[in-house]
Amino acid sequence: MSRRRLLVATRSTHKLRELRELLDLGRTDLLSLDDLGTADDPVEDGATFETNAASKARFGARVSGLPTLADDSGLEVDALGGGPGVRTRRYAGENASDADNNARLLEALHGLPPERRGARYVCVLALALPGSAGLRGGLPLIVTRGTCRGRIATEPRGTSGFGYDPIFEPASEPPGGRTLGTWSAAEKHAISHRARAARRMAPRLFALGF
Ligand code: IMP
Repeated sequence: MSRRRLLVATRSTHKLRELRELLDLGRTDLLSLDDLGTADDPVEDGATFETNAASKARFGARVSGLPTLADDSGLEVDALGGGPGVRTRRYAGENASDADNNARLLEALHGLPPERRGARYVCVLALALPGSAGLRGGLPLIVTRGTCRGRIATEPRGTSGFGYDPIFEPASEPPGGRTLGTWSAAEKHAISHRARAARRMAPRLFALGF
């Protein structure tokens, strides 16, 4: 049987690698926008993770003609009223690095005790199929969500994962305990927001023949 192709509408090698590992689609190749040589990027100006994931998935399906999965994710920090939320990637500025973003968040929470450093990661996955009604507007066919509760550490620890992982202590850790930056990929996959969203998406993909 010939292999199927699924576009992941991202340029993040970290997200792509995690989704490959999490979805573990034996019959399907996952490709990124860079793999396809797509120069344009989708607009990400929605007010919710769902809106952004939907527009990224629709964009990918439109430009590639391929079934497209999109991931919109971020961090909701209790002390910031749920921010930075959809602005997580750009928290310290339009072209901010992970280190810039982590430093800005540590500064914003400076001096707060552990019980006021609560946060959660959110991941929304959206799947758009070319030719479906979902491409013209409204929601794409399938949307799933996962969250992961924890707290923001007082300084970065560890180099695994990406983004805010070096300053994110999962809820199972005591304050000052291990951050996701020190967890293995397998440990992160057991609890992560992306893993939870992927676990809900996987049977839907399987039912569609991926
Ligand atoms: P976007 O989905 O491209 O808007 O960006 C999401 C941003 O959230 C990423 O750039 C990371 O900074 C952060 N993020 C999302 N998921 C994770 C994760 O699993 N670990 C660490 N940071 C994450």
